[in-house]
Amino acid sequence: MLTNNLGYPRMGAHRELKKACEQYWTGKISRDQLFLTAKNLREQHWQLQAAAGIDLIPCNDFSFYDHVLDMSLLLGVIPNRYAPVVTEVKENAEIDLYFAMARGYQKDDLDITAMEMTKWFDTNYHYIVPEFTAAQDFKIFSTRLFGECSSARAAIGKTPKPVLIGPVSYLMLGKEKEPGFDKLDLLKKLLPVYIDILNRLRNDYRAEWVQLDEPFLALDLTEKQRQAFLLAYKEIHLKCPHLKILLTTYFEGLRNNAPLAVQLPVCALHIDLVRAPLQLDELLPIMPDKLSLSLGVVDGRNIWKNDYHQSLLTIQRTISTIGTERTMIAPSCSLLHTPFDLELETEIDPVIRNWMAFARQKLQEVMELKLVAEGNAELLGRNQQAILSKNKSSLIHKQNVKERVAGITDTMAKRKSPFPIRQQLQKKRFQLPLFPTTTIGSFPQTDDIRQFRAKLKSKTISAAEYDSAIKKATVDAIRWQEEIGLDVLVHGEFERNDMVEYFGEQLDGFLFTKNGWVQSYGSRCVKPPVIYGDIERPREMTVYWSHFAAGQTDRLMKGMLTGPVTILQWSFVRNDQPREITTNQLALAIRDEVIDLEKAGISIIQIDEPAIREGLPLRRGDWPTYLHWAVKAFRISASGVIDETQVHTHMCYSEFNDIIEHIAAMDADVITIETSRSQMELLEAFAGFKYPNEIGPGVYDIHSPRVPTVEEMMALLEKACALLPAGNIWVNPDCGLKTRKWPETKQALINMVKAAQQMRTAVLIS
Ligand code: GLN
Ligand code: ZN
Repeated sequence: MLTNNLGYPRMGAHRELKKACEQYWTGKISRDQLFLTAKNLREQHWQLQAAAGIDLIPCNDFSFYDHVLDMSLLLGVIPNRYAPVVTEVKENAEIDLYFAMARGYQKDDLDITAMEMTKWFDTNYHYIVPEFTAAQDFKIFSTRLFGECSSARAAIGKTPKPVLIGPVSYLMLGKEKEPGFDKLDLLKKLLPVYIDILNRLRNDYRAEWVQLDEPFLALDLTEKQRQAFLLAYKEIHLKCPHLKILLTTYFEGLRNNAPLAVQLPVCALHIDLVRAPLQLDELLPIMPDKLSLSLGVVDGRNIWKNDYHQSLLTIQRTISTIGTERTMIAPSCSLLHTPFDLELETEIDPVIRNWMAFARQKLQEVMELKLVAEGNAELLGRNQQAILSKNKSSLIHKQNVKERVAGITDTMAKRKSPFPIRQQLQKKRFQLPLFPTTTIGSFPQTDDIRQFRAKLKSKTISAAEYDSAIKKATVDAIRWQEEIGLDVLVHGEFERNDMVEYFGEQLDGFLFTKNGWVQSYGSRCVKPPVIYGDIERPREMTVYWSHFAAGQTDRLMKGMLTGPVTILQWSFVRNDQPREITTNQLALAIRDEVIDLEKAGISIIQIDEPAIREGLPLRRGDWPTYLHWAVKAFRISASGVIDETQVHTHMCYSEFNDIIEHIAAMDADVITIETSRSQMELLEAFAGFKYPNEIGPGVYDIHSPRVPTVEEMMALLEKACALLPAGNIWVNPDCGLKTRKWPETKQALINMVKAAQQMRTAVLIS
């Protein structure tokens, strides 16, 4: 039985790679210093995997920025606009071309935009989207892969398993940058280059196994895509007959593609048995004679300890059908999505810590599972003790919370009256002008504010000092909003570090790590909170600040909350109950907060759900179930208030067109939504659907310091008016302003208010 690992986190235990890259970008360290850091990290990670007893150790899973971008460089898929950089940086600075593609290039009179970035399936990792042209050529451009194979062998004394994205998935990850062709038709040109690479790996670098990642094989496929898989793998088999190909799928089950998958002439198939445990039953009966199966039983997407008893059943079932030699044990997917090492977490309650496993511990688990399968009862026993203690722990299980969730009724997910009635009541109550102006919640988090928070944490200032600093920032922001004439004010969220962490820290059932970083994109890492137990709100969370802010002005002050689905989506979630139940627990906590805000006199409350779209399952057939409970959770949180209280929601940076009816079903009185980057394109979907409630299409992009002109914003508003009833339109930026600086924020908002005012006059005249 072989132990197999698909990929390892790159950043290092202390985010060494992040720091080195950022220092290199600002010119603080040399290229050689950057390379040395990277080399050390790779070697440490290989050695660590060898020491853990992993047989198939990956190489080329390392990346300076993103592994899809690495593939583009390997295959010579370099958009034309980088031609000047290619000539400029020549051989020894391939890395500068690479970073230019990832981050854009502004130097020596050149101003070249970065490549587009998008989410890697349903993870929070973002990859750089390959750009294809109709006449796209492929050739081996970067040789970094080969160098890595040699150095891996030098580091661990045996041939590693190079990892590549498979040819079909690579094409499917990319984008046609001109009309008139289908990227899949590029496969015929692409395959010879893959075959060249594979043969070099075998002949010159003595690779025995090569891992080809084909995650799309576990998703919905068209007939053409199926044919592409058949063509690609037959060709590879024909031209590289002696190489052992390990074909990996993850994040979903093979389901209807199982017959296709087992038809592909490869040596081994990897399946994700954490996400899709039932696929084993579909697969075992149709396994061809020589195909090996890599069982992804250790969760590569979460931080919980493996239940050896469950995994053992899976392993035994597989062995009894296909034998020990053809069975491999592995994490479900690359460990890229888990934090590095639990050993570094010295402050987590040891009881809870004993239920957890990070990347390093997961390697250990893979190895131990092999031993357990070979009969090691002691390891099994110790593991089962931990699992059992978790199942029964009073740290996790709160009867009152469970009962409350079980008692949720449909009425709790419904506002008292339908929207048209609420709208009338609210119009009467608020007396807002046409095109009311507002912002999304946060104002610039200056270094000052951050420092106050750091000082509070390190206890160099008192809670009272912190409090008065935040109060001052809040009051300043309020005065300023009044001055420029915004209609619905916000308090600015100065007291918040992060829109999920802020709530997690105040809720029971959450814990926070010190080093639990996972890569989000490039050098950027996030540290998701951990939901370990039943969630309860011990006390009000935002009333203090909202109430304080409301008391500083006669204008309307919006209360600001993060919605249940977004909190769930951006956390590591417990795996002992359905996500739906955990979300409902969050929904009840937010509902209580909404009610408390209303009691404190706040009449407009925004519940942000930017992540509702990214929770969508990877298979379309599973969408309705998810959308049903996600929308319901939002409604539970929003529906405890009277008709006259106005509920807003906010969404951004996702494709919303295909879930528009579900957004409508959330029944928020007002939705503010990012639209300016697509020139209001999204609004057409809202108009086509006849979105019934009020809507604030973002009139400027907050991701750039550029100040938009009044005319520009008016043009966007005119577009909106052509599509939607003017009486339903709000005026606001695309998203929160936290990452901006004050000068540009002020100018942009002054212009925005002017745009709204001129629109009002224009409507009056016409
Ligand atoms: N209210 C949040 C803010 O303004 C919303 C952030 C978001 O949409 N990601 O910062
Ligand atoms: Zn946003």
